[in-house]
Amino acid sequence: MYLAKEDRYEKMKYLRCGNSGLHLPRVSLGLWHNFGSVDRYENMRNMLFTAFDEGITHFDLANNYGPTPGSAESNFGRIMSEDLKPYRDEMIISTKAGYYMWPGPYGDGGSRKYLMSSLDQSLKRMGLDYVDIFYHHRFDPNTPLEETMEALSDIVRSGKALYVGISNYNSEQARKAAEILKANHTPLLINQICYNMMNRWSEADHLQETMKELGAGMIVFSPLAQGVLTDRYLNGIPEDSRAKRNYFLHEDSITEEVLAKVRKLNEMAKGRGQSLADMALAWNLREDKVTSVLIGASRPEQILDNVRFLKNMEFTRDELNEIDRILS
Ligand code: NDP
Repeated sequence: MYLAKEDRYEKMKYLRCGNSGLHLPRVSLGLWHNFGSVDRYENMRNMLFTAFDEGITHFDLANNYGPTPGSAESNFGRIMSEDLKPYRDEMIISTKAGYYMWPGPYGDGGSRKYLMSSLDQSLKRMGLDYVDIFYHHRFDPNTPLEETMEALSDIVRSGKALYVGISNYNSEQARKAAEILKANHTPLLINQICYNMMNRWSEADHLQETMKELGAGMIVFSPLAQGVLTDRYLNGIPEDSRAKRNYFLHEDSITEEVLAKVRKLNEMAKGRGQSLADMALAWNLREDKVTSVLIGASRPEQILDNVRFLKNMEFTRDELNEIDRILS
């Protein structure tokens, strides 16, 4: 039987999510990859236990995570019921709907029909009465935003989610969503977007500033660019890596030009006494504009590596300029 480490809250740092009363760990764990029906169950358990022992209290899922779609939620539900149940009140569990999940017109998008049915399915798969955060996974131009946001508010009122979030919404979309939610007396908790040293669309969109102004938090996915911003690919493409195993990260995208930059960043990280993964995560959290980095992992050791940076999160202005210069 799993017993969580007693010192688990001593090392992790937590930050209030926007103006809410909810504190999120600076590092959260996502179950997009490596938790599906094709993956090793023992490894998933160990990753969840390792994370929780390090003070990671937030676990992020979506209806379609797998493969097969839905299986990450089923596996997580099994581990919850067999091992983590006593810790439910210490955990923030999120799920989402917004991408294709089932055939026909009701298994995709942002309709009230899809969101309500999908959350019911997710709760069943995870064996939970409620999730802590329910997200609309992506903006849907074909559904009135009022319908999507009212569905989210009603979900909170039904008790099936405690907070609501949006994901992949830009500044303009986030502003509109927050306004409708506010009119429905449901504060917007958070926006989940992609952000890392190599993907900075949100800076041009001033999204960090927008979320702050809206009183909402921001959690960033793929903070390690799916593994590119680590030492994973410095000596070729390993057989067990995401670039070899999964079509979401193409081998072809890891070019010599990209690797040359990653090598320079890796040297810089060494100079700071950190792994490149750690430097990349610390960079994401600089100035507290981002509430939490949502990491992925394929083994427990990566999770241990990815929390070490909490001891060294500071950058000098020269270091920040050097990172920009390397990546320009
Ligand atoms: P990361 O950028 O953290 O990439 C994770 C991958 O990087 C791991 O699977 C592993 O790859 C590699 N890695 C991690 N740590 C290390 C390390 N210390 N050293 C070497 N390699 C390392 O995040 P993800 O892309 O996995 O996304 C994280 C989460 O964000 C998802 O699980 C999901 O919850 C969420 N997400 C949300 C989206 C949305 O639309 N809202 C979209 C995408 C993700 P390897 O397998 O090669 O070992």
